[in-house]
Amino acid sequence: MATKRKKSCPECKKRFSYASVSDHKWFPFCSERCKLIDLGRWVNNEYAFVEDLSRGNDMKDQINFDEIEDPDVRAALEELEGEL
Ligand SMILES: [Zn+2]
Repeated sequence: MATKRKKSCPECKKRFSYASVSDHKWFPFCSERCKLIDLGRWVNNEYAFVEDLSRGNDMKDQINFDEIEDPDVRAALEELEGEL
């Protein structure tokens, strides 16, 4: 049986559980809604970043691990890196 991991959503602070990062589509958020709220912030603050996304670049390639403070998110990204 797969162990569920728990994380609190950085947007709404609600706790949610997930089996794995690749299994939870909206990670590190609990839901699409929270992910979109966060993305909306990027749109306002970092328009160039969103423009890159719309050109089809993989968001993961633009993430600087050193700038990520949340250890859960860092671990998750490193895990994804290993799977791809
Ligand atoms: Zn949330």
